[in-house]
Amino acid sequence: MSGPDSSAVAADGGDRAPGPLHLVQSFANTLSAVSDVDRLRTREEAVAWLRTAALLPAEAALTNSEHSALLRLRESVRDVLAARAGGRDDAEAAARLTKALADGRLVVTAGPASTVQLASAARASYPSIVAAVAVAIAESAAAGTWPRLKTCSAPGCGLAFYDGTPSSGSVRCSMHLSGV
Ligand SMILES: [Zn+2]
Repeated sequence: MSGPDSSAVAADGGDRAPGPLHLVQSFANTLSAVSDVDRLRTREEAVAWLRTAALLPAEAALTNSEHSALLRLRESVRDVLAARAGGRDDAEAAARLTKALADGRLVVTAGPASTVQLASAARASYPSIVAAVAVAIAESAAAGTWPRLKTCSAPGCGLAFYDGTPSSGSVRCSMHLSGV
């Protein structure tokens, strides 16, 4: 599965995550404490963002319950990223993320020439959105980049940033490094 182009929705400063992880970063950063913006606040705003991120076809929509599920998915992603910046394992956040990602109904498809891909067993819009996020996380984990996505621990920030330091020990985005 080739990832959606999310370059149009990037707002990550100098902390842009590489490859498919950037989709997860963009999704997490639809909620910004810095600019007091929530790009998914209403169902209409969420649909607009999802279309910009190429996660939702032009003719497709979201139900209210799907919108609520989308917000829970983002919350669970952000909780996992926040736990990393806090230097702790958060089993409950991980469990909530696992539960939210289950909506994507990921399966492994085997093709000719020994090709194997992650795909969604669902055809409906919302499971496909979740599947895109789940595939991005799985591919990032395989590439070793997933543990480096964190939310900035500086007060009032919370930006999802990519920790590119050799030690993988950064807990603040590039805007707040000097405050350590
Ligand atoms: Zn920050």
